[in-house]
Amino acid sequence: MRRRLAAGNWKMHGARADLAEIDALMAAHPHPTVDLLICPPATLLHAAVERAAQHPLQIGAQDCHAAPSGAHTGDISAPMLADAGASAVILGHSERRADHAETSEAVCAKASAAQAAGLTAIICLGENLEEREAQATLDVIAEQLSASVPDTGNANNTVIAYEPCWAIGTGLTARPEQIGEVHDFIRAQLAARFGAGIAEGIRLLYGGSVKPANAAGIFAVPNVDGALVGGASLRAADFSPIITALS
Ligand code: PGA
Repeated sequence: MRRRLAAGNWKMHGARADLAEIDALMAAHPHPTVDLLICPPATLLHAAVERAAQHPLQIGAQDCHAAPSGAHTGDISAPMLADAGASAVILGHSERRADHAETSEAVCAKASAAQAAGLTAIICLGENLEEREAQATLDVIAEQLSASVPDTGNANNTVIAYEPCWAIGTGLTARPEQIGEVHDFIRAQLAARFGAGIAEGIRLLYGGSVKPANAAGIFAVPNVDGALVGGASLRAADFSPIITALS
């Protein structure tokens, strides 16, 4: 069945000295029963991969370009991330959709490129507060899911992260019944599109102010296979109890 996944999204945080957090985290979890992934900023990818080499820890990136190479100043391609030792890439995070006007179609093209390069695409979806209050959450999720996930999606190359925008970095967390409703819906949508066999294998993460204090309640929700953790992934002292709750 699905192996649970704790993924840390460091966002635009971290210098080389902060890689010591990886050592501290892995000292606390030398033999994890869940998959562990940390996605540092691109400047730290190489060094993080070196740190992780002796540990059951994967390193991922936070974005990629849809093209394998070319005249795209400042961008990084999926094959480059794979070459740097990354095994996954976060795509379509709401901060990228907002800051860089990324559409679901652009996210889909990036996810295809990531999968072609052998990376797992962690594709993020989520409604904003206005959409939730207008009771449009499931419509928004359906639209983002169908447009952002490529036809090549399968259990090995695709992870879906449900991250309600209003819960990211705000300290607000979706209630378990809200999370459960959306995760059940995503699973059903995936089954309708890819068939039950593939849909049952794709891991669904919740993200949005996951903290040590609320992790156990979130992980008890059916169809929650782990978390995409922002702020609380930066320090081993915060991320470690979340991993323990998932284990
Ligand atoms: P947060 O971020 O845990 O700081 O809310 C989650 C995310 O944006 O992936």
